[in-house]
Amino acid sequence: METKNLILFLVEALVYFAFMVGLLHQRHRIGIGVFITALGVLHFLETYLAAVFYVELPFGVLSPGSSVLFSGKLMMILLLYIKEDAATVRAPIYGLLAGNFMTVILAGILQYHETISVVPGRVVDLTFIDEMGWLMLWGTTLLYVDALAIILIYERLGRGRRMPMALRLFLSGAAVLTFDQLGFFAALNLLNDAPMSVLWGGWLAKMMAAALFAVLTTAYLSFARLAVLPASSRPIADIFNDLTFRERYEDLLDRSGHDALTGVLDRSRLEFEGPRLLQAANAAGAVTSLMIVDADHFKAVNDAFGHLAGDRVLKEAAATLQDGLRAGDRVYRFGGEEFVILCEGLSHEGALARAEQIRRAVAEHIVLPDGMPVTVSIGVASTDHDGGTLNGLLSAADQRLYAAKHRGRDRVVGWEPSDADIRPVDDFT
Ligand code: GH3
Ligand code: MG
Ligand code: MG
Repeated sequence: METKNLILFLVEALVYFAFMVGLLHQRHRIGIGVFITALGVLHFLETYLAAVFYVELPFGVLSPGSSVLFSGKLMMILLLYIKEDAATVRAPIYGLLAGNFMTVILAGILQYHETISVVPGRVVDLTFIDEMGWLMLWGTTLLYVDALAIILIYERLGRGRRMPMALRLFLSGAAVLTFDQLGFFAALNLLNDAPMSVLWGGWLAKMMAAALFAVLTTAYLSFARLAVLPASSRPIADIFNDLTFRERYEDLLDRSGHDALTGVLDRSRLEFEGPRLLQAANAAGAVTSLMIVDADHFKAVNDAFGHLAGDRVLKEAAATLQDGLRAGDRVYRFGGEEFVILCEGLSHEGALARAEQIRRAVAEHIVLPDGMPVTVSIGVASTDHDGGTLNGLLSAADQRLYAAKHRGRDRVVGWEPSDADIRPVDDFT
């Protein structure tokens, strides 16, 4: 008889677990409410069984209500927390608390009815209703503490430790169920005179249930991760929503930090990454060069051919700059018709030669509607002459750009021996 009870006990645990995890697994298809409602409905059977339904097992007396259904419910709450989050798991925790309080209140009112017997031989068991109310109240309070505790313990056990999942689940469950068994037995003993064997047998059964559920839950979690259970796939529409969202997000990420007109990087990007790039290059002992490229008489281009023609020239200029550079060099649109180019590991002489190529390429390739070439002036600065900061390089390059404009435009100006007299403004790294 005891073996039969043990087998039935195992079957109950397995059926319960398979059913509840099935509902949880399908939550994206049928809604999380189905799982949570089922959890709540089973609570009624659990309380009834825990109050009156006890069986004999090889190691003692226990109720499937508290061992299978109650242990299972705590594990389901933990599993819901693992699969979703704290906000979601709040629903069953507070829902059970609220529903149970309502049960107790109604049970209290129901006792005042004058009842009649409609089924011969059966009369209403008012003591049971009353008792169930109190037992529920107590069980509910315990459950509330248990549900919070199992999540906190689970979190605590995971912090910094590489504990196997099954052990972590078992320890969380075992700790909470031990506490609960002591608390619940105290109430059973007080209300129903439950013998000590119920405490011991119930505890063993709960430990068995915790171990069984921990193993089953671990198996489910790893199966779900391996996607062996295809039912977890979300409705097609959902997946498409996700993909669309992700594409838009990646698109946004791509575009942020880029100038909308020319497609090169924008000024905020230079301010964000420039100092970091320089710091890294300086630390590695590499020279970095910076150029400021400014279109000559650009206002006149707009005035003569219109703003749209000016925009087209800017786009072509940006493309020409990018064509003339190495893969690692970076082009930023610094202002209206000014671009900054950052070349890591390029000496001042190398940068001057590169700037000269760029100047010539622009003059050759970009022509205005009247056939006249577009020209640019370029100021060049490098960390070996002008200090290691972005501001120092920008300020030196800007002074040289100004000199290039002053000397007649369409030219490149770099460091000159007379610059040694000018202290770069930001030379204090
Ligand atoms: P300089 O040779 O001295 O550089 O002469 P400049 O006319 O280029 O001088 P300035 O820097 O004063 O004028 C820049 C002009 O660039 C002013 C503005 O009309 C034009 N500009 C700035 N941003 C844009 C833009 O996005 N599109 C167009 N089409 N024009 C722009
Ligand atoms: Mg200009
Ligand atoms: Mg300008």
